[in-house]
Order: sequence, then C-alpha cells, then structure tokens
Amino acid sequence: MPVKARAGEPVSTLSLNISNLSEGVHQRTLEASPGEVGLDGRFSGPTVVSATLEKTSRQLFLTVEFTTEAVFTCDRCLEEFRKELGGKYQLVYVTDERAQAGIEDDEVQLLSPDANTIDLTEDVRQFILLALPQKTLCREDCAGICPVCGVNQNQTPCDCEVGETDPRWEGLKKLLGD
Ligand SMILES: [Zn+2]
Ligand SMILES: [Zn+2]
Repeated sequence: MPVKARAGEPVSTLSLNISNLSEGVHQRTLEASPGEVGLDGRFSGPTVVSATLEKTSRQLFLTVEFTTEAVFTCDRCLEEFRKELGGKYQLVYVTDERAQAGIEDDEVQLLSPDANTIDLTEDVRQFILLALPQKTLCREDCAGICPVCGVNQNQTPCDCEVGETDPRWEGLKKLLGD
C-alpha cells in the first residue's frame, strides 16, 4: 500500500524536510520537472535547487540558488534557442503560532510550530519568472534576418545592400537603370 500524504499536505519535490533539524548549516539539492514547478511549455529542462538552511534557536535562514532551462525565440533571427536561467533568493523563516491563523508578515515567513516541511515550489516559480530576460537574442551579435531577401544571416550571409533605400524601390531603380 502506498503511503498517502496527509490531507492538506501535498507532497512537493521542491520541499525541505525541517522536522528535527539540528541547529547549524544544512545543505540540500532538489530537482523538479517543469510541470512539478508549474512552469509552462517554454521550459525544457529540470529545475535544480540548491538550498542552504541555517538554523538557530530562533529562526531559519534559507538561501536558494536555482537553475533551469528554457527555449526562447530570438528577437532578431526568429530561431529558437535554449538558454539556462538562474538566480538566487534568501528568506527568513520564524516559527510563530500566528501562521496557523493564516497571518502573514512582510519581513519574515511565518512557520507553524508543527510544520515539518517548507514548500519552495511557489517561491522558486516566481523567481524563475522574474529571471526571464526582457530581450531575447540567440547570441549578442546575432546578425538577424536580411530585410531584403529574408535569409537568416547567421547561416547564409547575403550581399544585399541594406541602406537608406527602401527595398521596395530596388526593383524600380533597376528598371530606371539607376
Ligand atoms: Zn538570433
Ligand atoms: Zn539579403
């Protein structure tokens, strides 16, 4: 018989077990698929989380470093490319009875005194979305698509003259013998 998760405690692959955690520094590595983190079809690889927990008698200091991989479409040449994304965040958790009443605090994360795990899924998902680039280029010097003949100039550089002239006039200029 498979062991069932207790009601209200969905099992997440990005959760840290904190029951009976001794004071000191603890290092954990977790891995989850894009679906498990709630990421969309752009994400092509697993999310790897490296978590450092520093426990003192009063609080739990969490540092999370994450990496994942997504497929983007280049703004210039419109080719798809894979890119690794990463980031880091830190949170302080404090055990507080108020957590049971659903009360939140701006400065710290409140943990219920009987909490056995910290679920990182939602925080990691949010920080991954923040790490998405605004501008996506397959490479810094992407040559893009030629506005005259439409080839991807990273693959086949062309000899079209791209200058002040509007390409639509090129044919007419040839007719006029320019
Ligand atoms: Zn490109
Ligand atoms: Zn061209």
